[in-house]
Amino acid sequence: MQLYTKIMIALIVGVAAGLVANLLDIGSLVAFFVAIGQFGDAWIDLITMVVIPLVVASLVVGTASLGDITKVGRIGGKTVVYYLVTTAIAVSIGLVLSNIFLRGDAGMSAEALEGLRGQYLAEGQSRVAMAEQAPGLVEVLRGIIPRNIVEALANFEMLPILFFSIFFGAALSSVPKETRDPVLRFFDGVNEAAMVMIHWIMALAPYAVFALIAAVIAEFGAEVLGGLLVYSLVVVAGLLLHLIITYGAALRFLAGVKPLDFLKKIRAVQLVAFSTSSSNATLPLTIETAEEEVGISNEVSSFVLPLGATINMDGTALYQAVATMFIATVLVGDLTLAAQFTIVLTATLASIGAAGVPSAGIIILIVVLQQALPPTVDPAAGIALILGVDRILDMCRTALNVTGDLTAAAVVARSEGETLALVQAAGD
Ligand code: ASP
Repeated sequence: MQLYTKIMIALIVGVAAGLVANLLDIGSLVAFFVAIGQFGDAWIDLITMVVIPLVVASLVVGTASLGDITKVGRIGGKTVVYYLVTTAIAVSIGLVLSNIFLRGDAGMSAEALEGLRGQYLAEGQSRVAMAEQAPGLVEVLRGIIPRNIVEALANFEMLPILFFSIFFGAALSSVPKETRDPVLRFFDGVNEAAMVMIHWIMALAPYAVFALIAAVIAEFGAEVLGGLLVYSLVVVAGLLLHLIITYGAALRFLAGVKPLDFLKKIRAVQLVAFSTSSSNATLPLTIETAEEEVGISNEVSSFVLPLGATINMDGTALYQAVATMFIATVLVGDLTLAAQFTIVLTATLASIGAAGVPSAGIIILIVVLQQALPPTVDPAAGIALILGVDRILDMCRTALNVTGDLTAAAVVARSEGETLALVQAAGD
């Protein structure tokens, strides 16, 4: 049985088990599923553990074997432009859908509004406190250059790690061959061992997915969706539209692959992103799939994918646009066009600053709320409204985030003259 099929079965059984516990309100079963969620979290740690060795080794080898530093600049330029443009499109899709469907009370009764406010206001306030500590865009950009690479590695700061690895790889390529080769062989060995670790860890994926999903559903259940149904559906519809229209077009016209064939190859990555709610934790599998299933070179994937997991979050940006519109509609009424334009700018930039970890999007959302809503609106009250369904929407947006990264890698690889293995398999 393929890995994808196993994960899919685990997901379905996990949802069903979680629902049974939640809907029948069987306390001990809920507690049991929440407890085995720990196993899922341990598995996330296991796969996250591989991220840094894999990214550093594969980026050093990738850059050193490019031989030409201008190529790094060219790939970097294309990647960043592509990421910004697709994210802005995602936000726009979110805004258009919100203008159509989130009007009036946006499907929320006054009762539901009060209920959510009472239940989540304190948590909303704690998120606002967390947002105050999150670095702003300028700080993120300024922080790209690490003062101390060991510190950056220890703190899992992806952008400084990427910067150092590329710089180091480029320098390595200009060192005499006899000195360079042993170093390259070392990193090559690390890279290959990391890939083997991923294979081993992925064998446990179905069990971890079951544990993760059963815990989330048992704890959050379906009832919380009630008042937030319209909002949640608009987010999910936006994510699907972006997948079908934007990625569909990019894959067909820019990467030259059949979108459905491509999506089939990356299904397991999407499911793991969905189950873990973390682009970072999914990154090792994303890289492995890009290279082994889609046929993207290590040079492109080692650069485009880690960068994407950190700065490219179309799903998050789209969700932030819809969430801001929803909160505005419920708390202050419709937003002007100018305020909506602010959302395009701030959500696009804010999603760059969001880390690829669970719930990063809702913390960065506070920045967007502060920019786009009148100062009289307390962001904590807004966050309180949507917090109940956030974990489930986080799963959906993370799946789109990693799809966006992989699509970008395919587009950039094709633009660098690569023929994707997928193209041959599809007989194009
Ligand atoms: N969980 C998302 C990710 O890792 C970020 C977010 O919270 O939107 O891609």
